[in-house]
Amino acid sequence: MKQLIVATGNPGKLKEMQSYLRDLPCTLALKPPELDVEETGTTFMENARLKAKTVAQATGKCAIADDSGLAVAALNGAPGIYSARYAETDQERIARVLRELGDTPDRAAKFVCAVAIADPNGAIALEKEGICQGEILRAPRGNNGFGYDPIFYVPSVQQTFAEMTPDQKEKLSHRGQAFSALFPDILQ
Ligand code: IMP
Repeated sequence: MKQLIVATGNPGKLKEMQSYLRDLPCTLALKPPELDVEETGTTFMENARLKAKTVAQATGKCAIADDSGLAVAALNGAPGIYSARYAETDQERIARVLRELGDTPDRAAKFVCAVAIADPNGAIALEKEGICQGEILRAPRGNNGFGYDPIFYVPSVQQTFAEMTPDQKEKLSHRGQAFSALFPDILQ
């Protein structure tokens, strides 16, 4: 594998994916911006496979895609695979989760990341999933990261994702875990 196409248009995810793939012995390239893949899958993994496959077939190169999101227990797993589509902006998405949770004492939530690599024919060569358990705060905290990071609190380190350094988030997060599980297999 000489070149790997990173199949995302989300700047926050892209930054993390490029960083987590930094030691890979191949060059990374971005997917063509006009190539938008409709997420018709019913699971994170189905959507990750779909994005990797579509971008690989369109470019004729290996492609890596991540599908991820926040699943809140008291909201029956919402926003889940609809995390990106839950509202127009990050701020509105956060406000919607906080509004829907209200004063509910059950604040349990998890972030899930499914990652898949497709070969130039679109066949899935590798796939892994990472999960990070946490809680939803009652108000946002921290300025780092992206998306729902300011309301996602990890009790073991008493910080939200948005309060962590990029290195700390990589060690603990759903995406960091999925990518580190992928690494030994990519290098084989
Ligand atoms: P998709 O995988 O492109 O469908 O989008 C996933 C959505 O989930 C993102 O747009 C974010 O709103 C949210 N998300 C995924 N990973 C993270 C993360 O690490 N921090 C905060 N929000 C995330």
